Amino acid sequence: MTRTISILGATGSVGEQTLDLVRRNRDDWRVVALTANCQVATLAAAAREFGAEIAVVADESCLADLREALAGSGIEAAAGRTALCEAAARPVDLTVAAIVGCAGLGPTMAAIEQGGTIALANKEALVSAGEVMTAAVSRHGATLLPVDSEHNAIFQCLQGGRFEDVRSITLTASGGPLRLVEDLSEVTPEQAIAHPNWDMGAKISVDSATMFNKGLELIEAHHLFPVGLERIRIVVHPQSVIHSMVEYRDGSTLAQLGPSDMRVPIASCLAWPARMDTPMAPLDLAAIGELSFFAPDEKRFPATRLAREAAEAGGAAPAVLNAANEIAVEAFLKRKIAFSRIAVLVERVLADGNHPDAPRSLSDVLMVDEASRRRATEMLELA
Ligand code: NDP
Repeated sequence: MTRTISILGATGSVGEQTLDLVRRNRDDWRVVALTANCQVATLAAAAREFGAEIAVVADESCLADLREALAGSGIEAAAGRTALCEAAARPVDLTVAAIVGCAGLGPTMAAIEQGGTIALANKEALVSAGEVMTAAVSRHGATLLPVDSEHNAIFQCLQGGRFEDVRSITLTASGGPLRLVEDLSEVTPEQAIAHPNWDMGAKISVDSATMFNKGLELIEAHHLFPVGLERIRIVVHPQSVIHSMVEYRDGSTLAQLGPSDMRVPIASCLAWPARMDTPMAPLDLAAIGELSFFAPDEKRFPATRLAREAAEAGGAAPAVLNAANEIAVEAFLKRKIAFSRIAVLVERVLADGNHPDAPRSLSDVLMVDEASRRRATEMLELA
């Protein structure tokens, strides 16, 4: 039976890998909405190839180009944040939320409010909105399927037992490209982006290098799998073969293994609760040889400590942490600050103490996000 799908962030790394799987199973899917920020040519090409109903760019200055690129195709073109949310609210069987950053929050919430199934890659949205998003999921009877490889692994391992029997959850972390680099002050954006195992967008690649990615994932896991923060652990596993683990009360630990290719967790969401074929070669453990594990080094990479503290503090703190990190990563990618300043800036914005109250609605979260971005930008300019 043909199912309908919308992909928010269709021109990004997760978006394109989702389209790759859809392309391999064309008869199974009808594409409704595809969105991007401003990569018009890529978006229009995908919309034409998949016969989408509507293509939307977040950046309104790109609308004329999008209209031109779609001329004669019969595909609707739209632009702006409201149009993005309206497209995300079109009823579909599956929405893939793959916009990067808190910019994805509004459209993801619009999809959740339709009570549909959302394959969530956009971790920043869940980190910032936390309880606001999980409450909306329950209120609207929506289903969140985690795309992040670690959370997808945990989701799969949780099929092996009862949630109340879970003793702990272990998120694995590759440690990123800088795990063994001694001097972090001279790291360039090119070095930070060169992830040893995964091919991803620029922002998440920098987050992997700072370990903020694992920090954000800790908060994401805390909302998706509420076992208590103290029962969610992080272990560095440089080979990225085990994607995460769940330990049960009887001492059994279930792990999910697979190649470092996002098409595996994306496929798990596309086919859920069934399974589908992917082009991946079978895992060859004999060729891999060894799997190793280390405790995270929070002195050199304080991000996981900061994220844990923000999650413990609750309220607006995770949204503040996320916003400050987004500003810091952008500044680092533009070579305005050194790599080692990213965590320093986030810690300063968090320690500022001038945080708004706990957000209770989407607009509260967006206000916290906006205020924290302003504060982080001011601190950057003062430094
Ligand atoms: P990319 O940077 O590759 O792609 C981001 C997508 O979001 C693009 O389609 C981009 O459009 C769009 N976008 C960017 N800014 C805006 C905006 N302001 N408003 C609307 N759309 C916007 O990111 P990734 O695919 O790497 O990551 C997407 C999300 O998935 C992130 O939250 C990331 O943490 C998460 N994730 C990614 C993984 C990966 O392997 N890449 C793994 C696990 C999670 P345009 O192309 O026009 O700029």
